[in-house]
Amino acid sequence: MSKNPVPQCADCSLPVRERICVSPEGKGSKGCPTLGNKKLLERARKEYRKPEILEFARQASIQEGECYLNRDRKPFMMHPGKPRIQEICEFASKMKYARLGIISCIGLSREAALAAEIFEAQGFEVVSVVCKAGSIPKEEIGLKEQQKIRIGEYEAMCNPIFQAMLANEAKTDLNVLLGLCVGHDALFFKYAQAPTTVLAVKDRLMGHNPLAALYTSETFYSRLKRKGF
Ligand code: SF4
Repeated sequence: MSKNPVPQCADCSLPVRERICVSPEGKGSKGCPTLGNKKLLERARKEYRKPEILEFARQASIQEGECYLNRDRKPFMMHPGKPRIQEICEFASKMKYARLGIISCIGLSREAALAAEIFEAQGFEVVSVVCKAGSIPKEEIGLKEQQKIRIGEYEAMCNPIFQAMLANEAKTDLNVLLGLCVGHDALFFKYAQAPTTVLAVKDRLMGHNPLAALYTSETFYSRLKRKGF
């Protein structure tokens, strides 16, 4: 077990521009990993020296910068200029990727078709796999009737391992997750061989914008901060 303090960046009380991770003259807060985890930081740095990783990280950071407009103007004012789907296309082009995998939830089939149309229009080859592919009944992983969505009916389980294996076999260059459930997404990440980015996460209640619950967690969704809700 490391003697370093457990990182607590989410609790950092410093204004962003006064943080050591943002400005060399800045300070750190309790549990600051920039100040307290030098050895691990050195190990991370070493990883970036691997040519393939270096190129990936370099292009990702170039892409990050290019998502803002008027960067040459002083003082700089943040002016975002691109939707995420464009960001994905541009990053994939920079990496010279040809084949993208759309890994989607069946509930977002329309969105998957729209994403495929956009990727193809931008010159990519698309491989797409929906979560229910393979149609394995939920009973096979031990679900009881009462644990299904539609009690008393046939229900195929979400199958992120199959999705990952199909993407691996198709040798996708980059996978794009679209609306997988919590947990199923984690399994996909675990089994996928190609790097995976996320176009959108599923939030059934919030129109696939989970942050809406956070933005309202001091008012209408304050119950989220009570243990057990
Ligand atoms: S790295 Fe340090 S300064 Fe930056 S957010 Fe974390 S605790 Fe705060």
